[in-house]
Amino acid sequence: MRNPHAGQPFTDSDEEIAEALLDVSIPTLMLSLVHMSSDPNLIRGALKPAGLFLNEVQGYMSEDDKAAVRILALDVIGDYRDRGCPDPEPVNGELLKEMMEWLVCEPVPDEYVPMLLEEMELDGRDSRAAHSSASAAARDDFPVVVIGCGESGLLAGIRLKEAGIPFTIVEKNAGPGGTWYRNTYPGARVDVGNHFYCYSFEPTDQWTHFFAEQPELQAYFQRVMDKHDVGPHVRWETEVTEANWDDATATWTVRARAVDGAESTLHARAVISAVGQLDRPFLPTITGRESFTGKAFHSAEWDHSVDLRGRRVAMIGGGASGFQIAPTIADEVEHLTVFQRTAQWMFPNPNYHEPVGPGVQWALRHLPFYGRWYRFLLFWPGCDKGLAAARVDPDYPDPQRAVSEVNEITRMMFTEWITSQIGDDPDLAAKVIPDYPATGKRTLQDNGSWLKTLTRDDVDLVRTPIDHVDADGVVTVDGTRHPVDVIVYATGFRATEVLWPMTITGRDGDDLRDRWGERPAAYLGITVPGFPNFFCMYGPGTNLASGGSLIFHSECQMRYISGCLDHLIDGGHRWMEPRQDKTDDWVRRSQEEMRTMVWAHPSVEHSFYKNSHGEVYTLSPWRLVDYWAWTRVPEPDDFVFG
Ligand code: NAP
Repeated sequence: MRNPHAGQPFTDSDEEIAEALLDVSIPTLMLSLVHMSSDPNLIRGALKPAGLFLNEVQGYMSEDDKAAVRILALDVIGDYRDRGCPDPEPVNGELLKEMMEWLVCEPVPDEYVPMLLEEMELDGRDSRAAHSSASAAARDDFPVVVIGCGESGLLAGIRLKEAGIPFTIVEKNAGPGGTWYRNTYPGARVDVGNHFYCYSFEPTDQWTHFFAEQPELQAYFQRVMDKHDVGPHVRWETEVTEANWDDATATWTVRARAVDGAESTLHARAVISAVGQLDRPFLPTITGRESFTGKAFHSAEWDHSVDLRGRRVAMIGGGASGFQIAPTIADEVEHLTVFQRTAQWMFPNPNYHEPVGPGVQWALRHLPFYGRWYRFLLFWPGCDKGLAAARVDPDYPDPQRAVSEVNEITRMMFTEWITSQIGDDPDLAAKVIPDYPATGKRTLQDNGSWLKTLTRDDVDLVRTPIDHVDADGVVTVDGTRHPVDVIVYATGFRATEVLWPMTITGRDGDDLRDRWGERPAAYLGITVPGFPNFFCMYGPGTNLASGGSLIFHSECQMRYISGCLDHLIDGGHRWMEPRQDKTDDWVRRSQEEMRTMVWAHPSVEHSFYKNSHGEVYTLSPWRLVDYWAWTRVPEPDDFVFG
């Protein structure tokens, strides 16, 4: 069988190929040429990338060099086409590592190579696929309930299906995608490059943008769900309200409520929570909020019936969502007032709103492993490198400004990007240059649209705190009234209240919310002592602030959960839960590590990562390569079985 990543055979003419090559990432193309020609010398000459930066996919190659590669490529691709596009010969490990290092212009440490190769699937094998060693009868006796059909819940469904384990997904929305189903606000798009932000085993050449907008993302999850025929397993528009463990029968009783109010009960031997951390909108307590007589809604509950044309709009909050909304609605509204409590760090990404050209789509579809190497090129710069800038040097002076030398350099780079856009405008500079260390909160991708919007005459940025809202406006603490017709709350999510508002009751009636309080924690972010056969995806301690992709993390978690289910079912166990000592040790080490990171530093005053004590329990402080290694195979000694 043809390697699925070897590309579909083609018969395009030289002219058509030459046209396509105008769009593509030239360094990525060169690696594809090595596969087509089996000639590593193609990357051992003078034509090579000169440097690495996230989303700079041309490796800073000169126009002349790129043109030279295109000429060379035409020969290699033409020959490959004329030979009938055969499946390329496998490339040995040594050469693969050489190709990796060539593409990213730096050494790739050995410990990363197996993870990257697995992620790239160059051998055409999805080695994260789930298998069950148990008999069909044992599997049939082990129904699983998955809560949520966002990216992680859908993944859970795909893997459970592969393993032949019966399952039901309960989803409160009417379709798949989770956050990509709910967040339909104007301008909603992903800020991790889409050719990486997709399942490793379900790449697509269909993205129309490098950073797709919400409808396209939702359509992707729908397509993947249909392909894997997961839909028939989902109860749509049904919300899980509680799940209770019964020790005597070793089952979970899951209660759910449909949108029409009908209550139902499901019984499961295991529960996988896949609700994410960014599901429940957060509305701030602002005096008078309820007294506003105009239309008001949260960014995640956008009211599309409200026509913004000719309206004065207040947008409260300017985080990742607000950052996308303001530039998108500014043309439409009569006046936009952005109330931003804390300025945001941002960094340049010229591709952010760019369409994917037909040449790139052609290369993804036809050129052997082009998409796989492109995925690697997007993954690598965000793979653990951001941790260096986020690590606190306790001896660094003036930590309100920067927490280490690397962090200071990052600050300078980000500041330069901001000031290069606003020219000589000290008032605006004072408002938009953050007063806390770089990367202290989630750093935003920027192509200049945010600051351009703020410099419009019909847009105001207000940094003065809000005092209250009244019937027809927002009043700041300096007494200024801002009369508005519509208020958009782009105020984020109840991220620290993991699994809220569900009630999860484990052994001896232990309530998970009481257990966690403001300090949610699970072993590897997945399992909790006292809550047998209960597994979290995107659980506490697994959000990512310094790079990577949540889909990568979900794939790690689901492989681990599949391994746990195999232990349970094949081992004939009724239940398993993580050892308390192992979990305590994990939480202690995670917190120790987290306290060395800028996200938990007191210089960052407001952050949705922090609980009311300023502690961070939702994020991972760990390297992706470590988390990948730790979650490959569940270690039986970490668990108690019953
Ligand atoms: P967010 O980053 O938490 O931003 C919320 C905004 O509301 C911040 O400006 C915050 O100010 C402000 N705010 C909160 N409470 C307030 C209060 N009481 N008074 C005044 N202002 C208040 O939420 P988000 O923008 O929805 O983004 C959340 C996360 O969703 C992101 O970090 C990201 O993980 C994800 N997301 C991703 C994308 C993407 O991929 N492109 C897009 C959107 C969202 P402070 O900063 O002062 O707290």
